[in-house]
Amino acid sequence: MTRRSSSYMKARPLFKDREVMYQYHHTNLDSSRIYCSAQATTHCWNCKQPLEGEETPAFFCLSCKVVQPPSKDVSYFKIMACDQTFTLDTQQLQKRYIQLQRSLHPDNFSQKSPKEQEYSEKQSVLVNKAYRTLQKPLSRGLYMLLPEGMHIEAETDPGADAQFLLELVEINEAVDEAQSTEEVNSIGKSTKVKLKDLTGQIDTALRKGQLQAAKALLVQIKYFANVEDKVKEKLSKLM
Ligand SMILES: [Zn+2]
Repeated sequence: MTRRSSSYMKARPLFKDREVMYQYHHTNLDSSRIYCSAQATTHCWNCKQPLEGEETPAFFCLSCKVVQPPSKDVSYFKIMACDQTFTLDTQQLQKRYIQLQRSLHPDNFSQKSPKEQEYSEKQSVLVNKAYRTLQKPLSRGLYMLLPEGMHIEAETDPGADAQFLLELVEINEAVDEAQSTEEVNSIGKSTKVKLKDLTGQIDTALRKGQLQAAKALLVQIKYFANVEDKVKEKLSKLM
């Protein structure tokens, strides 16, 4: 990494932190960023003003500042204000999550009307779901395939070929038989490399609209994610 890009990487999170803090302390003053809104066709249930906005759904009304019910069928990517890509910025995702959960925290609504309490809770649940889904590569990929009507069965994966399954059996056996943390860590390391490689391949397939290929790769990611869990479990046993 060059010196220039590393200083850029360092500068960005700082700016984001400041922005989050600003929004946290000024939610009632400058609300345009966090109180983002949805389609111009919807109106505030409280003051009837149109909920103007661009890309992201309305959590609060800009006019009366009152919390809104969740918009129907809004994409998780839009809720989390993320690019709709498989390789989304997970740091940005987490910051957005923290930001939204702060503004939707039940404590903010304890003195408000039952309706506002209900809407804030529903919004909070939705934000949680969107965050959890987009956070992990597997659920994110599955979510991206959803509109195409493609699903990976929970238990059986017809997409996984015999050679791949054999490779997985061997890796799983190696984890079972490992006697030292070094051995397990080494398997964990190569699993991470494999997951990163698969993530890149899935991103490419999704960008090219190669959905069958993306699905097959997601099956592989699912297996390797299981290996990763198994590695963690084994390490805790050896410690
Ligand atoms: Zn309003």
